[in-house]
Amino acid sequence: MPQGIVGEFLSLKEETDADLLAMQCGDFYEFFADDAETVGRELDLKVSQKSSHGSSYPMAGVPLDDLTPYLKALVERGYRVAVAEQYETDGGHAREVTRVVTPGTLLETSREDAQYLASVVREGDRYGLAFADVTTGQFLVTSVEGADAAGSELYRFDPVELLPGPEVRSDDAFLRRVRDQGVKLTTFETEAFAPGRARHALREQFGDAAESVGLGEGVTVRAAGAVLAYVTETNAGVTASMTRLRTYEPTDHLTLDATTQRNLELTETMHGDRSGSLVDAIDHTVTSAGGRLLREWVTRPRRDRDEIERRLDCVEALATHALARERLRDTLDGAYDLERLASRAAGGRADASDLLSIRDTLALLPSLAEAIEESALANSPLAEVVGRPDREAARDLHGELDAALADDPPKTVTQGELLRKGYDDELDELIERHAEIREWLDSLAAREKREHGLSHVTVDRNRTDGYYIQVGKSVADQVPEHYREIKTLKNSKRFVTDELEEREREVLRIEEARADLEYELFCELRTRIGERAELLQDVGRVLAEVDALVSLATHAAGQDWTRPTLTEPGPIEIEAGRHPVVEQTTEFVPNDLYMGGGVAASRERAGGHANEERDFLIVTGPNMSGKSTYMRQAALITLLAQVGSFVPARSARVGVVDGIFTRVGALDELAQGRSTFMVEMQELSNILHSATDESLVILDEVGRGTATYDGISIAWAATEYLHNEIRCKTLFATHYHELTSLAEHLPRVANVHVAAEERDGDVTFLRTVEEGATDRSYGIHVADLAGVPQPVVARASEVLDRLREEKAIEAKGGSSGAPVQAVFDLGSGQFAAEGGSGRTTETTEATATEEAASDGGGLDPELEAVLDELRGTDVNDTSPLELMGRVQEWQRRLDTE
Ligand code: ADP
Ligand code: MG
Repeated sequence: MPQGIVGEFLSLKEETDADLLAMQCGDFYEFFADDAETVGRELDLKVSQKSSHGSSYPMAGVPLDDLTPYLKALVERGYRVAVAEQYETDGGHAREVTRVVTPGTLLETSREDAQYLASVVREGDRYGLAFADVTTGQFLVTSVEGADAAGSELYRFDPVELLPGPEVRSDDAFLRRVRDQGVKLTTFETEAFAPGRARHALREQFGDAAESVGLGEGVTVRAAGAVLAYVTETNAGVTASMTRLRTYEPTDHLTLDATTQRNLELTETMHGDRSGSLVDAIDHTVTSAGGRLLREWVTRPRRDRDEIERRLDCVEALATHALARERLRDTLDGAYDLERLASRAAGGRADASDLLSIRDTLALLPSLAEAIEESALANSPLAEVVGRPDREAARDLHGELDAALADDPPKTVTQGELLRKGYDDELDELIERHAEIREWLDSLAAREKREHGLSHVTVDRNRTDGYYIQVGKSVADQVPEHYREIKTLKNSKRFVTDELEEREREVLRIEEARADLEYELFCELRTRIGERAELLQDVGRVLAEVDALVSLATHAAGQDWTRPTLTEPGPIEIEAGRHPVVEQTTEFVPNDLYMGGGVAASRERAGGHANEERDFLIVTGPNMSGKSTYMRQAALITLLAQVGSFVPARSARVGVVDGIFTRVGALDELAQGRSTFMVEMQELSNILHSATDESLVILDEVGRGTATYDGISIAWAATEYLHNEIRCKTLFATHYHELTSLAEHLPRVANVHVAAEERDGDVTFLRTVEEGATDRSYGIHVADLAGVPQPVVARASEVLDRLREEKAIEAKGGSSGAPVQAVFDLGSGQFAAEGGSGRTTETTEATATEEAASDGGGLDPELEAVLDELRGTDVNDTSPLELMGRVQEWQRRLDTE
């Protein structure tokens, strides 16, 4: 171990588990050795060499007062940085780590989103989760069943740092998924997760309130306690902003698994860009707190109609009254981020301009309330929103800040001039005395000129000479006796007098006393403001809520969106719906959608006509015709309705769903070492396990990643399972036209297709969704559009024609004359003909199976064995993964023929 300063650095570093250590050395914070290299690289700091006891070490430093921005930059890049401070001792000085700044505990964040520190603990299949944002004081806890549900909540909150509890640390799969999300994983001491310790930590922070929020369950207590202990241990003072703890039930919100959140591109696109996401398209907020809340709403749509309708009432009132809305927007434009400022004040980190921002933002509350109460909005629930915080307390707090703070205070809080005259008697005296002396000093030059007949006299002050009288060289020999010369310059001489020195001492004394007193008064003021963090958070939350509602209304009014009618439960009925993001950049062709309310709705209803029974739509249509867009549009309209937003449609009735599940497109997750098909099957498996009869399921191409028969079989079986067992609302786009015959077998399945028109070999996509199935993909047409060389396109057409013919011949009852569609009938395990001479569409599943059984007579034994197994497989009782395995096995056996 090296000795000296580097040795001390390295041993301090060893004591902490931080990634980097900044150690105070006099007026600098220094990083040594590897840390210096890292910091130099990350922050573009100059790295020099430090010689210590015969060895040389890299060294990089930042001035004492400049640490914060560097810390922030390092922590926002995911480093945990320990800070060691130097303090005086009897025999010299010593150093000690005073805090560790981590991604989840950074107060000075420049992140727009919430900055959650999370912890997750596990007991059996039960997961406890806690999410704390020290920058706003949000602290939420919950518990869920199963790793997938825990993963979904983690994806929703998108924490910057996660503390996995002891049981979770060994769960590689779970942690890998979290790490892939870009979350900093921190191993925190196991004892902090112990139930007793955790409960104690919570009681210390929240008192009796800790019990009354109903933490009850062990897992939630442990998760919340660990978060709190971590914040307390790493970062002095930050816990003060955590004023309250809230439990929530995952069932308060729409279930959106991580895949669905990504697929629907709620906050970022599949490529990770914010631009092009749903939030980006609809965000008109003018404050960062409002933007944060809007993102929270979009990722956590509601399930309870009361809250949704309350928001819709607000949005409707705001959408209708443009003038009042604009007035609110203008008012909000001046608002600062009160929730974050409150945390800074509570953490003792706020400077005078922060307190000014608090003052000015508090002043907006009455204007906002007035704008609402004096307008047509008075009768909307918005009046209730602005009535929520304690307005009188807010006014008092504003008054206190207004009376205290100077108009244009300096950034540093230790050099005075922060506070207004009239705030404190003692301070006033100092200020007055200071002004008197300044006046005396200011008029001194004139007095000296007059009294001693000197020309060219100035009085000034600088660091080395203090106050001095400067006299031009030409008259320097005329100065009176009591002038003492202190310096000769090229054209002048500097003098002091006893009187001047005395005044100087007094000015310095007063300035020091004033700075000390002001700092003391400022800290007291800041503490008092920090103690009102909860009030400030309330007001901040209200401003954010009004901003988010105004934003929804602005978008609704500007884009001609409509208020959805919610039913619970009920059908989804969309007339002339659009995709909220695509419509912004495209001449969009609106489409209708009708899906019955599923079993839950028909239970509620006596009677009801047949059409209401359809709740499973198979969507076919050419490539690039708009299938995916149509389905996402349905999901997004449902989601927006449950956010409490208007929706892009002429009219929309939305039966509240409990969750939206999607599997869309082929995600390239190869980088994570999982094959695309495996991912696809895992996603399908998750949907089949999690969806309920009140869910909306969107399947965009299932089974594409494997051989055709595999794919069809899995898609077929999944359809039956969703329809028969889960009985959810489902939209299923597929290029397996064979599946469209399911509509004949399954009562609530219906076919729709995206229309295309073919004329003289040219295909036009109409973008309209029509009833019934289509069997054309126009893939070759797309290849042509994409510029594939003509000979290839022409040859592909030939091959396609040949294949069609062969299939037609192969198909039972096919005649070369009439057009024949080959339909793969899983009932028989063979292709059957449809169209032309026409087969009966009344065939039920049972009779199809019987027919197949009698047909199977003359088959070879291996094929028959496979068919037997296929028949004997209970789809409802077999997991998709197992099905997949079996199908592959059957295929292998049939292949050897
Ligand atoms: P598919 O899933 O059938 O291959 P997509 O849904 O991906 O097709 O749509 C292909 C393209 O067509 C998209 O880029 C989209 O912008 C456009 N599109 C889809 N639906 C519409 C519509 N209703 N109106 C206008 N453009 C649309
Ligand atoms: Mg598609």
